Amino acid sequence: MDKPRSSPVWHPFTQHALRPTLPVVTRAEGAYLMTDDGRRVLDAISSWWVITHGHRHPRIVAAVKAQLETLDQVIFAEFTHEPAERVAERLVALAPPGLAHVFYSDSGSTSVEVALKMALGYWHNVGERRRRIVVMEHSYHGDTVGTMSVGARSVFTAAYEPLLFDVAQVPFPTAGREEATFVALDTLCRAGDVAAFIVEPLVLGAGGMLMYSAAVLAEMARICARGGVLLIADEVMTGWGRTGSMFACEQAGITPDIACYSKGLTGGLLPLAATLCRPEIFTAHWSTDRRRTFFHSSSYTANPIACAAAAENIAIWDEEPVLGRVTELAARQSRELDRFRDDRRFLNVRQSGTITAMDIAAPDNGYLAAIGPKLHASFQAANILLRPLGNTVYVMPPYCVTADDLTAIYDAIRVAADVVCR
Ligand SMILES: *Cc1c(COP(=O)(O)O)cnc(C)c1O
Repeated sequence: MDKPRSSPVWHPFTQHALRPTLPVVTRAEGAYLMTDDGRRVLDAISSWWVITHGHRHPRIVAAVKAQLETLDQVIFAEFTHEPAERVAERLVALAPPGLAHVFYSDSGSTSVEVALKMALGYWHNVGERRRRIVVMEHSYHGDTVGTMSVGARSVFTAAYEPLLFDVAQVPFPTAGREEATFVALDTLCRAGDVAAFIVEPLVLGAGGMLMYSAAVLAEMARICARGGVLLIADEVMTGWGRTGSMFACEQAGITPDIACYSKGLTGGLLPLAATLCRPEIFTAHWSTDRRRTFFHSSSYTANPIACAAAAENIAIWDEEPVLGRVTELAARQSRELDRFRDDRRFLNVRQSGTITAMDIAAPDNGYLAAIGPKLHASFQAANILLRPLGNTVYVMPPYCVTADDLTAIYDAIRVAADVVCR
């Protein structure tokens, strides 16, 4: 039974006038969601990019249950606890070398807010007047006012424009036109007033699964370093294996000054985020003068249950061949994608690790493209959870997905294209 029309629930990114009812999901297992009308839906987008190993991984479920026996929640400004300490220690070991401090929060957006505040706080505390933030065209960093400000202006942000702060933007480094990005970034970085450049490494997610090379990322990092500009890597989506390595920055061999991790941090089971930074940024706040304190907190900072889930997720990465699974999934994704490369209905067929994307050749595009609802209906009929971004269809499955699952996903994409390209 669909959720009754009288529900008081207001769902995210949902136009209720067009979706009066939503299916009720009752259970999740591996790569599948079960609904109360008896459907088994293949979760081809990892429940909005959070689920890494699969739903309800037994080890993480057990770790959460065990944690509940001892400590539920505690004020993190007064105490520390073992799960938070353990996760921080492992994060520092796993992250690019040089990131030494870990600040917890509870979502991708808050991890980015923390990163921006760390960067601004750093310059404030060292007494240099640098306040500008540089962003990349088409970027997405969250839906709070601060993160909307550093993201692309679009239909998503139109109503809130008066609240958004001003940023400088560099063009997306389209293949063959990377030089324009480097020149723009270099010019901004030389101006002396830029605090930080924030970027999604290798893949711009919500902006349309736009991809650029590790060499471009490395060059952008060099330009920032030359201009003394802090580099913030928003790995909220790209982290935890999505792009083929644990973190996308690894592929460029760079250490950002600040890195944001969330989505896959707990394997997708519970909300948690971490913002890591270099020692200089921590040290700039370290003082007997209380005015230099880093003034940020969420009520649930480092919730012990979420930290226990993260600790177990990291233990899975340490003890199981997760990266091998990721590599195998990437290879299978690549084989599936090959069958789309000379089909003229699909443009810009692309891949980064476990993520694939393609644009359906349609007269209109963008998030509100007319074909969007038709694609959505077609995928729903096939019991496959895919949520195209306008005319961009992407596949970002949990790592437990089977070869047969993948075939079903790509068959559904071909069927959907048959419908909309007729
Ligand atoms: C999803 C996402 C965010 C926001 O994370 P939430 O947990 O939804 O607040 C930030 N940055 C990137 C790159 C994302 O993909």
